[in-house]
Amino acid sequence: MTVKRIESGGHTPHRTLARLVERLREQGIRDERVLQAIGKVPRQQFVEQGLAYSAYDDTPLPIGYQQTISQPFVVARMLELLHAGRVGLGRTLEVGAGCGYQAAVLSHLASDVYAVERIRPLLDRARDNLRPFRFANVRLKYADGSLGLPEAAPFDTIIVAAAAREVPQALKDQLAEGGRLILPVGGLNQVLLLVERQGGVFRESRYEAVRFVPLLSGTE
Ligand code: SAH
Repeated sequence: MTVKRIESGGHTPHRTLARLVERLREQGIRDERVLQAIGKVPRQQFVEQGLAYSAYDDTPLPIGYQQTISQPFVVARMLELLHAGRVGLGRTLEVGAGCGYQAAVLSHLASDVYAVERIRPLLDRARDNLRPFRFANVRLKYADGSLGLPEAAPFDTIIVAAAAREVPQALKDQLAEGGRLILPVGGLNQVLLLVERQGGVFRESRYEAVRFVPLLSGTE
């Protein structure tokens, strides 16, 4: 007997976290620890219920307040560049916590995660989203992350989830010796920029084109 499966709504059913990880691998993400970290975080729990069917698509999704949860491939790519050749990410600052998704992924790769957000209701949402996971190494902070987080500096890793016109000086200053900072830079045309601090010198490397919401100053 043939069992006919009825597919609904034009969306491919059975999208899963495991499939998303497979897809990232096919797209060229090689770092197993990064893939594992992404595979541990149910992205579905960070988006509104109405978007749950898209949670494991490799796309950005709206999280309100004109902000988006980043595209998994871009999260993976940034983490891979930060992680390459290192044992872990160490003390990590995330600028732009949004819904808390990337902070959850970071918790599996970093010793400590300080995630900063400038929109209060989003920070509250990140806190609610992260609570069930009980990560002992993630702290959220309501602040303008373009100023870094002086009280917790220096950082081995800084990851910025919003695009800056140029690298904020405060972030460079708060990078530990041997530390790495990654951020999208540009206006309409943005690229990923990796900054490595070595012996007082900041080495910059540019990677692929990306599209992020802008890094804004102040809090709201
Ligand atoms: N990493 C997030 C993606 C959030 S989108 C996630 O996983 O959901 C980028 C976020 O950066 C937005 O929430 C935006 O409010 C925030 N942002 C922009 N400029 C900022 C700044 N100067 N300080 C802190 N957060 C900022």
